Amino acid sequence: VAQILDGKALAAGAKQELAARCQRLIEAIGHVPRMAIITLEDDGASGVYVRTVARTAAAVGIEPLVIALHSDATAETVAEAIEAQNADPQVAGIVVAQPLPVELPKREILDRIDPARDIDGATTISAGRLARGEATFAPATAEGVMRLLEANGIPVAGRRAVVVGRSPVIGRPVAALLLAADATVTVSHRKTADLAEITRQAEILVVAAGVPHLIGSGAIAAGAVIVDVGITPGPGGLQGDVDFAAVEPIAGAISPVPGGVGPVTSVILAEHTLEAAASRAGISV
Ligand code: ADP
Repeated sequence: VAQILDGKALAAGAKQELAARCQRLIEAIGHVPRMAIITLEDDGASGVYVRTVARTAAAVGIEPLVIALHSDATAETVAEAIEAQNADPQVAGIVVAQPLPVELPKREILDRIDPARDIDGATTISAGRLARGEATFAPATAEGVMRLLEANGIPVAGRRAVVVGRSPVIGRPVAALLLAADATVTVSHRKTADLAEITRQAEILVVAAGVPHLIGSGAIAAGAVIVDVGITPGPGGLQGDVDFAAVEPIAGAISPVPGGVGPVTSVILAEHTLEAAASRAGISV
């Protein structure tokens, strides 16, 4: 029977630890650190995401500030909102909820975020550091994958890892983090020929394609560790990319959807906010 990589339990424990760290931080810096969450969607999946991130921040003692702009806001309006947060010394971290409307110049907008406050690794500076294997804030979901492995005692160094998906928010950064952790990494994507042949070679398989049931029992090796990052809304709730029922009897470990990587993401954002605040103050907590 596969070990279940329980993100909910991990998040609950991590929140307690972060709350204690946040208290020490507040005593040291004399104010409550703020996390600015800028969003252009006030409903749907993005709305749920924003509420979860804000609630987690508040639970550990960070002040969440949700800045809800109209979904038809111009690039200038979004950029101004980011700049206002960059200029506020109380604001330790800034996250811009994605996806942004397609008509907006995403790269230009995200690169307005002060890299020191870039808690979701959204800027080109952060991505560049990550690609080089240097210390930086990585995208929170990608780091959540690594935390889930680490917290469950799953070794990464020297192992063969396969990532399905190469998006800038998940696939690419997860591959960079796995590489930094000394895995041997293969990245597969939409154009990969014979995906199952590649994924069957994985000792650690991270799936972030956004295609429900992409990975079935024939696509994994016995005993493999499977982390499912897919969250496609379906009639019965969120659907992962992995056919859980088919894969679970063969896998060594597997993350459920929901309750796997998802809950860890908001914890990582809170943790990054504390680290950003501490580093601004020149202390460590
Ligand atoms: P996410 O935000 O989950 O990363 P995106 O839609 O931005 O989702 O990216 C999806 C990624 O998954 C892309 O890199 C794409 O190449 C990959 N992908 C999509 N469908 C498949 C497929 N059938 N097989 C392998 N990779 C796929």
